[in-house]
Amino acid sequence: MVEKKWVYLFDEIKAAESYVGGDWDKVRGLLGGKGANLAEMVRIGLPVPPGFTVTTEACNAYQVNKKFPAGLWDQMMVALKATEKASGKRFGDLKNPLLVSCRSGAKFSMPGMMDTVLNIGLNDETAKGMVDLTKNERFVYDSYRRLIQMFGSVVLGIADEAYEHPLDAAKAAKGIKNDTELTADDLKALVEKFKKVTRKEAKIDFPQNPLDQLKLATEAVFKSWNGKRAVDYRRATNIPDDLGTAVNIVTMVFGNMGNDSGTGVAFTRNPSTGERLLYGDYLLNAQGEDVVAGIRNTEKIETLGRDLPEANKEFLRIVKILEQHYHDMQDVEFTVERKKLWMLQCRNGKRTASAAVKIAVDMVKEKLITKEEAIKRVSTSDVDAMLHPQFATSTKAKAKKDGYYLASGVNASPGAAVGQIYFDADTTEKMANEKKQKTIMVRPFTKPDDVHGMLAAQGILTSEGGATSHAAVVARQFGVPCIVGASSVVIDLDKRQMTIGKTVVKEGEWISLDGTTGEVFVGQLELTNPKFEEQKDLMTFLNWADEICATKGIRTAPEGWPSTGLQVWANADYPKDAQRARSFGAKGIGLCRTEHMFFEPARLPIVQRMILAKDDATRKKALDELLPFQRADFDGLFEAMDGYPVIIRLIDPPLHEFLPSEEALLEEVITMRVKGETKGLAKKEALLESVRAMHESNPMMGLRGVRLSIAMPLIVEMQVRAIFEAAADCTKRGVHAKPEVMIPLTGHINELKWIQPRLERIASEVMKEKGVKFPYKFGTMIEIPRAAVTAAEIASVAEFFSFGTNDLTQMTFGYSRDDAERNFLVKYVEEGILPKNPFQTLDQDGVGRLMDVAVRDGRSARVKLEVGICGEHGGDPASIEFCHRVGNNYVSCSPFRVPVARLAAAQAALKNRK
Ligand code: PEP
Ligand code: MG
Repeated sequence: MVEKKWVYLFDEIKAAESYVGGDWDKVRGLLGGKGANLAEMVRIGLPVPPGFTVTTEACNAYQVNKKFPAGLWDQMMVALKATEKASGKRFGDLKNPLLVSCRSGAKFSMPGMMDTVLNIGLNDETAKGMVDLTKNERFVYDSYRRLIQMFGSVVLGIADEAYEHPLDAAKAAKGIKNDTELTADDLKALVEKFKKVTRKEAKIDFPQNPLDQLKLATEAVFKSWNGKRAVDYRRATNIPDDLGTAVNIVTMVFGNMGNDSGTGVAFTRNPSTGERLLYGDYLLNAQGEDVVAGIRNTEKIETLGRDLPEANKEFLRIVKILEQHYHDMQDVEFTVERKKLWMLQCRNGKRTASAAVKIAVDMVKEKLITKEEAIKRVSTSDVDAMLHPQFATSTKAKAKKDGYYLASGVNASPGAAVGQIYFDADTTEKMANEKKQKTIMVRPFTKPDDVHGMLAAQGILTSEGGATSHAAVVARQFGVPCIVGASSVVIDLDKRQMTIGKTVVKEGEWISLDGTTGEVFVGQLELTNPKFEEQKDLMTFLNWADEICATKGIRTAPEGWPSTGLQVWANADYPKDAQRARSFGAKGIGLCRTEHMFFEPARLPIVQRMILAKDDATRKKALDELLPFQRADFDGLFEAMDGYPVIIRLIDPPLHEFLPSEEALLEEVITMRVKGETKGLAKKEALLESVRAMHESNPMMGLRGVRLSIAMPLIVEMQVRAIFEAAADCTKRGVHAKPEVMIPLTGHINELKWIQPRLERIASEVMKEKGVKFPYKFGTMIEIPRAAVTAAEIASVAEFFSFGTNDLTQMTFGYSRDDAERNFLVKYVEEGILPKNPFQTLDQDGVGRLMDVAVRDGRSARVKLEVGICGEHGGDPASIEFCHRVGNNYVSCSPFRVPVARLAAAQAALKNRK
């Protein structure tokens, strides 16, 4: 039997490709993102230190028996030999020792969540050899003490503090602040101290055998896949648990060999704004973790040319190649060892929502990617985030004038946040989750252990670290506003307070931070919504989404069905909502709930008079008074949507909703009786009687929707008259009105047969009276399972369907949409009884099945049947994709969700294209 290949040298990418069948995604699955990209960089001729990757399959095999699978160690030894040959050094050699790093690297990047050990191969003897070789004792013992510390912490599980105390003590004893000021002798002494710490804490000696170091470190990286941090992170990012991590063994190159060496991290474009400018930090004479940890203040990448001109030239050449090669913004790590540049990592860089859009748009313009690629690359949650609150410039100006400005720092992750401050992750999370507070986490800097607090917070503030520090990277990834390196903020973790100049802010007090500009204010600043019209890149991007959706043939469909993608319409009740929806890109109104117009203070008394009328004449009189109001409402809607269809739904809720509640009335009547007040009592008593008469045990399943129209046709007759009069007036003014009248809650074809012809007669009458014609439709909502399963009959009368999935979900599950969440639904989701809340994300297997049947059967009776959705699901990306698949013409959602839905519709079209 051929032994399984667990190990691939960096120059064996072809072998890895052929093992997985050539698919790059699978190569990443096998070698991890870091391993795959290191090998790819080798393939395109970039300088990568020699090394090899232990596969994720080896990690998964390790998890089964908690030991190396057969053949792995032998293969590592063979690969180590090849690495020795490539580097010209030997592992454990006393004269020219090879040192390696052991780095985790899963398929999807999990920054800082798993473990890494550097400088493996150093021991008391090889350290001496290194000193002879480098003539740099300080550097060698600095590397050695780092190895012991990392090995102790990662492999032996010793707390960082155990090593940090002696380090701090050594600095304090000499009165110095920076690690770099420690001499070779100081570091040599520290090595001995660190060895003692290891022995004391772990009860074993730091292993002197380099092979033991290598084996134990590899094992520790395997184990870190199941560490708490990594597991928490996977939960938050939906990364599956069974992927495993690869382990990369890489020849060490040293950024801490003096001032002609350094190390840094950079993005090929600004990950915060998307600007096409290199963005990053570096440190001279330092090792990688110093930059990422954000502990030492870093230099901006723009000055690399000043400090290391040759390496900088090479670096600029390489980052250009990388962007051209990967067609995406790259996040790179590099080290310069005595002027020679080495690339240690590259990957697609994480970015903020607005940067994601800007980069996608710019790259299309630069012809690096197509519009379709751009659409696939930006997530719907990015678009959502761009419509989130910010601080208005005037609000901040006033806050500054009034003395609320506190400090500024690096604008690491954009967006505005207002919250109560807490100084550790646990408290931040607790206050947010248990006390439902809006919280802001304040720390000197963050570590991977703090992620749960960062996720729970509205915003993050750190006093140290730079734009690529842990806090910045994680905050950007999760879209949490964040400011780092606000150096004027002095945090006292013992006193639980921070001081900025003379201002002291205690734990639990409010601050406001603007992650877009890096400004911090004390108190609560008012938040405003960003203006969509001002976000030009987003608008360009979403126009491309519309273009994709409008492409004929993008959807393979039976004759007469839509062959373009979905259109996005909006639910809007008032002209101002319709205007907003249109400015967000809606191509129609999918639902105007007319009853909302009845609740306006000037109208409610008339509506109540209409409901309480004892005869048709009185009722008609009240309706005649309402008609001009409704006509004006509809006029405004048609005008706002000039040229686009507007679906107006006839009255839906039970009438008692427009009357005072029975309990309140009863209380009033009793009080009046007790007090002996007679004035107005009879009227109140009569009202109470009427309300009681209308009482229903199950109003949601009672006299509402089309049933109400049939019971009391005068109301909807008035509404239809108002709709058509308004449309006629608009048409005369040159506005293209396209009314579509929607009858709610149909369950039986005979309901439509009873009401629709009466209403159509009114439509014709009005057009005749006004002497104009315009296109219109009569259709129905599909909200009752019976309507869905008799859709063919229904479509013989209805010219369009709109799925009212709020009611359809309620009626299909038999869950009350008003009470289910409160009573049991949350638990159902927590327990996994239901995968998702079906009122938020469409239940495709049940409710969706009914929709599928309804569309097919409906179109079997009426080929060009227009089909939409106007329940809450119309703005949910997963539900939108489903609507695309079943053949909807459009989805309709609230105006603020329209941009998200436009992207979701385009992504659905691309994903399902055959
Ligand atoms: C629905 O039921 O999905 C719907 C849109 O109507 P409403 O929410 O007004 O009942
Ligand atoms: Mg409904």
